[in-house]
Amino acid sequence: MTWKTLDDMDLAGKRVLVRVDINVPVENGRVTDATRIERIIPTIKDILAKGGTPILLAHFGRPKGKSDPAFSLRIVQPTLEAALGRSVTFVERPTRAIIDAQPQDAVILLENTRFTPMEEANDPQMAQFLASLGDVFCNDAFSAAHRAHASTEGVAHLLPSFAGRLMAEELAALEKALGKPTRPVTAIVGGAKVSTKLDLLGNLVTKVDHLIIGGGMANTFLAAQGLPVGKSLCEHDLAATALDILDKAKAAGCDVILPRDIVVAREFKAGADHIILAPDACPADGVILDAGPATVNHIASVLRESKTLVWNGPLGAFEIAPFDMATTAAAREAATLTKAGHLISVAGGGDTVAALNAAGVADDFTYVSTAGGAFLEWMEGKELPGVTALMG
Ligand code: AMP
Repeated sequence: MTWKTLDDMDLAGKRVLVRVDINVPVENGRVTDATRIERIIPTIKDILAKGGTPILLAHFGRPKGKSDPAFSLRIVQPTLEAALGRSVTFVERPTRAIIDAQPQDAVILLENTRFTPMEEANDPQMAQFLASLGDVFCNDAFSAAHRAHASTEGVAHLLPSFAGRLMAEELAALEKALGKPTRPVTAIVGGAKVSTKLDLLGNLVTKVDHLIIGGGMANTFLAAQGLPVGKSLCEHDLAATALDILDKAKAAGCDVILPRDIVVAREFKAGADHIILAPDACPADGVILDAGPATVNHIASVLRESKTLVWNGPLGAFEIAPFDMATTAAAREAATLTKAGHLISVAGGGDTVAALNAAGVADDFTYVSTAGGAFLEWMEGKELPGVTALMG
């Protein structure tokens, strides 16, 4: 994969359309978490330093293709100004003349791209219109790159295009983890259900050396092998699919690791009484909520022999202590190995980021992607239209 970055571009005097993800959470008209805004600041500053004028394009919430003040990007303008340390010009109805009338060192923010249905329809007229506002296109929104929209994909075909700092960082990390990884490669896939991660498992068994399956989805694999799972979260109807995945893994030489011991409670509740049992010993009224210490020891030894780790999904019901034990212990082991330079660790997906933060190790991983859907589609081996369009 090759893509142009900011370093390859001459931006002096150019109007630079920049697709960003500033879809931040808002309560009572105020931004409650500015992380996404802070992460695009380096790209904006570098464009300015190169003499370009950044024109920010972004979606915000789900206005359903109609103009709606509740979803106006005006709401994020003050937070963006604070993060940049300079004023930002908000333009509700842009034309090339309005854009050209701004000073070269202006930072321009356009209104929500989803105020028209043409955005999500990837309408060529909308892409043409956006392209008419700028001279070059910079995509810095990896998290929106799995969608072929006018502002993520359409416009990239009409202007010289390149990756912003955040996009380039994300692509480089992902390429290192699954594109051309240093082997052995281990994947940890956990979370609630097999049904939401079928494509993910199907792709990984052909790419990784060890596949660790945990969380509620491990129960489906245990049950498929004829083991009792009591009242645990389990998709019994996916037994045949689970066995197919195990067969596919065997054929590809991928070592699948399922729980070697289980943590069983009688209810899904923080602090619930629990016991550690062998995987064939779950009682009829038991609920499996985590993997046990023998599993954790085995995971740690696999990680110690691995050079690359990709991780999506917790190994247990990590939100309720003490059922975060396996997730936290595996996360700490991966973090320690990463800090010591033995492991490249890439993790992503909403709950995974929350689990790594809860374990206090997110900063020690090589890369943690906050792009939920786009990260999963990449792990599934799917082409991301917004990224493909940058390959020109
Ligand atoms: P996902 O969104 O598929 O990554 O699933 C994450 C959710 O799976 C978290 O809310 C966990 O609490 C839940 N989970 C993980 N392991 C279990 C389990 N053994 N039983 C019930 N829920 C679980």
